[in-house]
Amino acid sequence: MVSSDSRSTGDVASHQSYGQMGPEETRAILRSVGLRCTPQRLAIYQTLRRSSHPTAEELHATVTEGMPVSLATVYNTLDAFCSAGIILRLPSRSGVCRYCGEGKAHLHLRLEGKDELLDVPADLGGRILDSLPADVLESIESRMGIKIKGIDIQLSGTRQHG
Ligand SMILES: [Zn+2]
Repeated sequence: MVSSDSRSTGDVASHQSYGQMGPEETRAILRSVGLRCTPQRLAIYQTLRRSSHPTAEELHATVTEGMPVSLATVYNTLDAFCSAGIILRLPSRSGVCRYCGEGKAHLHLRLEGKDELLDVPADLGGRILDSLPADVLESIESRMGIKIKGIDIQLSGTRQHG
C-alpha cells in the first residue's frame, strides 16, 4: 500500500510562498528536526529559501557575502538538511546537484538548454501526483519487492514566446 503522504502535495500550498523566513521561524524548523542552530546553519537555510534551486557552490557564494563559511560546511549542512527532510536534493543531468528549500514533495520543470529548475505550482503538481494510479504503484511495489517512499517527476520544457 502506498501511503498517501508520500505523494500527496496537499501541504505544499501553504509553503508555496516560501522565501523570506525570520530567524525565529528558521530556528523552530531546525529544532523540530533535532538540528542545532548555528549561525552558519541559519544563514544557509535562509539563503536557500530565498534562492531558486542553487547548486552548493552558488549557495556558498551567496552565504559568504554575509559570513565566512567553508564550502565543506555548506555541503555538510545541506546533507544534514536533506537527511532531516527539510530541503530537497535535485540531481540534474549535468551531474551537479541543485537544492530546493521546500522539503515537501513538489514537481520541478527543467528549462531546456538552461541549467535552471522551476517549481511547478503546487496545486497543479499535486493534481498530477494525485492522479497516479494507486493500483499500478502497488503492483510496482509487489512485483519489485520494494516500498515506494516518494515520487520524483521532473518536467522539461521551454518558455513560450509571443
Ligand atoms: Zn523546488
